Amino acid sequence: MYDLIIIGGGPSGASAGRRAGKLGLNTLLLEKEEFPRYKPCAGGLSTRAISYLDFELPQYIIEREVMGLRGIFKNRIIEVHKDHSVSSLVSRSAFDNFLLKKARETKIEIHTGEKVLSCEEKSEFVEIITKKGTYQAKFAIVAEGAHGILKTCVRPADDENKYGVCVVTEVLANEDEIEKSFGSVVEIHFGVADGGYGWIFPHKNYYSVGIGGIAKDFPRPREKIHKFLINNGFTGDYKLKGHKIPLGGIKRKISGSRVLLSGDAAGFVDAVSGEGLAYAISSGQFAAEVIAGICRRGGNIKDLSKYESLCQAEFGTHLKYSLISSKLIHRFPELSFNMAIDNREILSKSLDVVNSSIDHKSYFYWSLKVCPLFFLRKFKLG
Ligand SMILES: Cc1cc2nc3c(=O)[nH]c(=O)nc-3n(C[C@H](O)[C@H](O)[C@H](O)COP(=O)(O)OP(=O)(O)OC[C@H]3O[C@@H](n4cnc5c(N)ncnc54)[C@H](O)[C@@H]3O)c2cc1C
Repeated sequence: MYDLIIIGGGPSGASAGRRAGKLGLNTLLLEKEEFPRYKPCAGGLSTRAISYLDFELPQYIIEREVMGLRGIFKNRIIEVHKDHSVSSLVSRSAFDNFLLKKARETKIEIHTGEKVLSCEEKSEFVEIITKKGTYQAKFAIVAEGAHGILKTCVRPADDENKYGVCVVTEVLANEDEIEKSFGSVVEIHFGVADGGYGWIFPHKNYYSVGIGGIAKDFPRPREKIHKFLINNGFTGDYKLKGHKIPLGGIKRKISGSRVLLSGDAAGFVDAVSGEGLAYAISSGQFAAEVIAGICRRGGNIKDLSKYESLCQAEFGTHLKYSLISSKLIHRFPELSFNMAIDNREILSKSLDVVNSSIDHKSYFYWSLKVCPLFFLRKFKLG
């Protein structure tokens, strides 16, 4: 009988594993893939995400620092810069592999290449079945990501209003060429996906090019990314990868009687940007801490519900306001873009949100104050 079984060795599972190991929990982590493995992602690791790590990232993981944003709508461009980094760009295969290595350092048991087939809460324990065996633990954390159905042992699967679909590819390019055309700037393209956006993120020797929008409003994403690639001068034959992304800020059940959901499985993603790494790391750590409180410090099983309060206090309001803002920005991309052209601070401050010097709530109320000025100017001029 383990204290804890963690399902999934992505950023959330690995962070839960490291925290559980450090807190002395007898832990098994089960990951279906062999690492390093590919994960579709733009690879933006925000300052907030880095702040949750209890170790330094080696230099080879960080491929580029992001200090600016180029917003594009049709043929119009606006660019803002900061004098500091707001995010780092990483390749997920290397980043996730490193996180799993940091979890392994705490001496927890890790089985890669072992897919969990079912996870069932019993009255005294959780039963987890893989092709190789049946395991029991006092508690489990489901950190299986956006795909997979193990999360349904706690909550129903999301319908098409509650998740987005992304298609992403990596376009290989020369390091000097990337440096010359992008430097430390990432590109966001508005109005190319219903309920979402397109991106070009410059890594060390490739561009992450992708497009994503709300599932119900975004049919034929592959056709759209073909168009997006061609419009941006990428005419090769690229390997496209599709992936779901939960829409954050929606209230979902995240704890059962012995199972907690963390990361994408819990739906913790910024609805404006699609950033999920910070919340995956933080929620994984909280989940392990709450379980350690019960197993190691004589807590009550009812204390499992503390997990929800911890996540809510740390980033619940932030994600709630990301959802409100995303509905406005992505529903009215042209208006949002015109406002950003009219007042560059709108885009500049959005980088402060990535940098977590302000949160979505403060940004939202600040925007409400500057919006009337835009309409006033427009009305006067027009
Ligand atoms: C196209 C795209 C671009 C993105 N860009 C960014 C970005 O730039 N910045 C950012 O912060 N976020 C980004 N995100 C979101 C980010 O990728 C997720 O929020 C993050 O990966 C969540 O981490 P996780 O550990 O919860 O899940 P995952 O990273 O999905 O990890 C889940 C792990 O569980 C394993 N697993 C699944 N099922 C089982 C099973 N049955 N048994 C055993 N193991 C299992 C998987 O193999 C995987 O390793 C992006 C997402 C997409 C789709």
